[in-house]
Amino acid sequence: MLPVKLTSPSSARSILSQLGVHPSKKLGQNFLIDRNIAEIIIAAADLTGRDRALEIGPGLGVLTERLAASAESVTAIEIDAKLCAYLQERFREQPSVNLICGDILRLDPGGRFDLAQMKVVSNLPYSSGSRILMEFAMMMNRPACVVVTVQQEVADRMVAAEGSGDYGLLTIWLQTAYDVRAVKSVSPTCFWPVPVVQSCVVKMVRRPDALSGPEKKVFSRITKRCFSHRRKQVYRMLAAGSGLDNATVVELLGNMGLSPKARPSDISVEQWITLAQEIAGVAELAVRRT
Ligand code: SAM
Repeated sequence: MLPVKLTSPSSARSILSQLGVHPSKKLGQNFLIDRNIAEIIIAAADLTGRDRALEIGPGLGVLTERLAASAESVTAIEIDAKLCAYLQERFREQPSVNLICGDILRLDPGGRFDLAQMKVVSNLPYSSGSRILMEFAMMMNRPACVVVTVQQEVADRMVAAEGSGDYGLLTIWLQTAYDVRAVKSVSPTCFWPVPVVQSCVVKMVRRPDALSGPEKKVFSRITKRCFSHRRKQVYRMLAAGSGLDNATVVELLGNMGLSPKARPSDISVEQWITLAQEIAGVAELAVRRT
């Protein structure tokens, strides 16, 4: 068994070198080497002995070992085969740690796990962090709580307010599904290899479902379309994306106190939810009439 003191940079480096792992940028392999930050992440998740944790990208297991100590069980999904083999050996005698070797983006976590009953705790790979979060947010059985470390720039978009330059698709998708708040900025020196940018721990707590399945489809379609042309007036994009005529869309916006000249970033999260509900309602009415 290899020595384990992961919050010492030299130990982490030495284990990686013994394993023949050359940290990959593509896989976002920046390993946490700061004990305080690890404790802050775990504390933010408010774990009890009845919680089931899901960790994406356990790496060398710095969070996994703490999750195993606080939660009933940990499911950890790691894409790197060498790290996976190391973790399997390391947690061999801990049946509460369930290791899965694979790509979170291909594993269909929503279909495979009882996600709604789980808490996600993870230092997300920079390369795919936003995509992973957006996929989770759109699931009907999305996790109850998500505590993640992401690049500061991604965190800024996650917590942005309408009208700001950071406010976009990521903001709206996450804030529709979760209450989102920044917990702690993290210096690049807390990781090895040292990334170029600052990171941030963000906590998301599930909101009650605002959208039904069909409304979610409309929400996804109209927000994607509108934010792919964020400088354009929203009514044209909405009309094209919803199949409604311009006049109906302008009336809908007017009923919500919005000008037809509004840009996508002027519309609040709650207004996007209402728009999706209204457009889905009008579309359903049209189908019933035919
Ligand atoms: N949790 C460890 C830590 O805090 O030190 C490692 C975090 S590192 C930022 C991201 C980890 O995610 C790496 O171990 C990487 O191999 C893994 N990873 C990257 N893409 C992945 C994917 N699509 N599915 C599962 N794991 C992935």
